[in-house]
Amino acid sequence: MSSVLTFHKILPGCEAGNIEAWKAFLADYTPMALHCLGVYSPWTPEERWDCWRAALRSLSANECGKLKEFSHQSEREFLVELRAFLQDSAAPRLEHAHDAAEPPAPTLQTLDELLVGLPLVHQEVVFLTLAGYSQATLEKILRITPAVAGDGLTRLRAGYARVVERNEDRCLWPSVWIGICQAARAGQTKDCTPLRQLIRILDGQASWYEKTPADEHRAKCRHCLERWTSLLEVSMRPWTRLRTTSDNIEGLLVDIPVKTGQGNRSLVNRLFGR
Ligand SMILES: [Zn+2]
Repeated sequence: MSSVLTFHKILPGCEAGNIEAWKAFLADYTPMALHCLGVYSPWTPEERWDCWRAALRSLSANECGKLKEFSHQSEREFLVELRAFLQDSAAPRLEHAHDAAEPPAPTLQTLDELLVGLPLVHQEVVFLTLAGYSQATLEKILRITPAVAGDGLTRLRAGYARVVERNEDRCLWPSVWIGICQAARAGQTKDCTPLRQLIRILDGQASWYEKTPADEHRAKCRHCLERWTSLLEVSMRPWTRLRTTSDNIEGLLVDIPVKTGQGNRSLVNRLFGR
């Protein structure tokens, strides 16, 4: 199933309770949600599906009050926010006991020790490797071979050789790692680079005068590194090739309050240009 609605029409349509908008939302974003939950949880496909359903109930409750808080300007901003929301939704369901004991999970302090002084791209490789990505997937996310981050990988191998060598995209310590991401997101300062600006930098649209201070700041700021690597993750879009089936979408729609019949026709017409 391929969505014919653009991002800018999907969110207002969902908020108006339009079923076609929700179908487009589910077709476009369910693969990303399941991908994220696949990396950041130890769960079976059924458990990931349950978490996504719960997240959808939360997004659509109270006339989509939560969904209305998300960015409506840029799809990638929205996806970064959705990824964070999914992590927050997964966190209470994760148990520390399910995190791997060996190698021991990083802490905020050991993470800082691994990152300090490294060039930005090395920090990205370290952060995303600990997050659970294999070196093969990192090559797609970063569009470089992770091997160029030699110093970063050398530091990682000292304690986390098993993490560097694995071929699977799955975090070894979902409970701890999501906590680290949440702490990073909560650590925003007035000097942090807005997400929209990070997107301009990623797209090569920022001037040298904008990019240089943002890069220098990000090399020392865990908050901005978390935002930046989230942006790289959602920009990779491996899930665009993984379309959900119509049956799955109907199953997800069960929990979402949608308006049926003619009651909402004029708004729907305006939104979709009919
Ligand atoms: Zn920052």
